[in-house]
Amino acid sequence: MKVIIIGAGVAGLAIAWRMAKSGAQVLVLDRAQPARGATYASAGMIAATAEIAVAGSPGVLFGRRSRDLWPDFAKELESASGVEITFRQDGALIVSAGSEDAERLQREAMGGEAEFLSPEQARMRAPMLPPDIAGALWAPRDGQVDNRALGQALTNAAIRAGAKLSANEAAVRIEQADSGEFVVLTAFRIHRADVVVLAAGAWSGQIGGLAADLPIRPVKGEMLALAAPEGEAMPGPLLWGHGVYLVPRKDRIFIGATVEEVGFDTKPSAHARSWLLERAHALVPGLREWSVREHWAGLRPASPDGLPIIGESGIPGLFIASGQYRNGILLAPALAEAVAQLILKLEPAEEIAAFSPVRFDRAL
Ligand SMILES: Cc1cc2nc3c(=O)[nH]c(=O)nc-3n(C[C@H](O)[C@H](O)[C@H](O)COP(=O)(O)OP(=O)(O)OC[C@H]3O[C@@H](n4cnc5c(N)ncnc54)[C@H](O)[C@@H]3O)c2cc1C
Repeated sequence: MKVIIIGAGVAGLAIAWRMAKSGAQVLVLDRAQPARGATYASAGMIAATAEIAVAGSPGVLFGRRSRDLWPDFAKELESASGVEITFRQDGALIVSAGSEDAERLQREAMGGEAEFLSPEQARMRAPMLPPDIAGALWAPRDGQVDNRALGQALTNAAIRAGAKLSANEAAVRIEQADSGEFVVLTAFRIHRADVVVLAAGAWSGQIGGLAADLPIRPVKGEMLALAAPEGEAMPGPLLWGHGVYLVPRKDRIFIGATVEEVGFDTKPSAHARSWLLERAHALVPGLREWSVREHWAGLRPASPDGLPIIGESGIPGLFIASGQYRNGILLAPALAEAVAQLILKLEPAEEIAAFSPVRFDRAL
């Protein structure tokens, strides 16, 4: 079976790895370098509790399923790629500033996977938190992965499993010949395949031909990385509060993220920088002594109803893996597993039906 995957982000690469391992002949096309899109720009959180709010929805179930796949996925990936990806389940603290907020968090904790901590208990887990917090929700199973290393690891693993990767080659159009074979046109070549997987992140709706109607839009997110003053560090859990999150990674802390509907613009802005710093300082006042080392922006792939678009389109053999929005790193293991199962005509996880591309009233 010949498979063409359009897009070498976390989604396309994880699917490529899975499909190459199953014996398919896989070609991955990327318009730039692999894993340099949202995968590179992200915070790398595996936050099935902190990031996903609506308990019981298919998005939550799928997120938890993927979270549960992560430990084995990480181990297998490190040994297949030879790249350390530093997957950790250090938990997340969702900090509450006011008492009304604290009560709401407590209520949410009762139905969910998290427990409510008093200010003292929260500060034992994260001593840099100020004493005037009202408490925090503790999500012990949330964690993180080094997303930049993850991109490298998936690239290595896919290639080692036999996938071919063509960088700097954008897919321009997807067509289907009378024989049923798919034709993917790029500026350089015409590629042919039995199966096409469209996994081009925020750009998934930009490719002409059969998938031109895919309703995916970019949502910009800006982030900062702060470096610790000499001799200081802040290891420990992810911290959420004041509308931002903090991700401790080695001697740095990532602050994220803005949510902006500004098309394909990826310029970091002074406005976002001060917004992120102000909120991070309110959450952890000690960060005023840390210095900004990096400021970047990326584009999340968003669908009209906020759920991912994963599955076979109305055109048999044309699969979509997009719309993961804020959770594409979290969802990677479950997404790759589901798409590979669908291509191989195996039974995928039940909740995947809710993500079918055919739910939109369009040609796809
Ligand atoms: C600031 C920020 C923070 C985030 N934090 C988190 C987080 O903590 N946890 C989490 O789970 N998720 C997070 N996300 C979301 C996550 O990054 C995305 O959902 C995920 O990376 C999407 O992966 P992807 O492979 O679909 O897209 P991408 O990583 O964007 O990859 C798409 C690839 O397709 C290529 N491409 C585009 N057009 C074409 C074409 N025509 N032909 C060939 N190739 C093409 C691009 O070059 C790119 O390499 C964050 C996102 C942002 C922006």
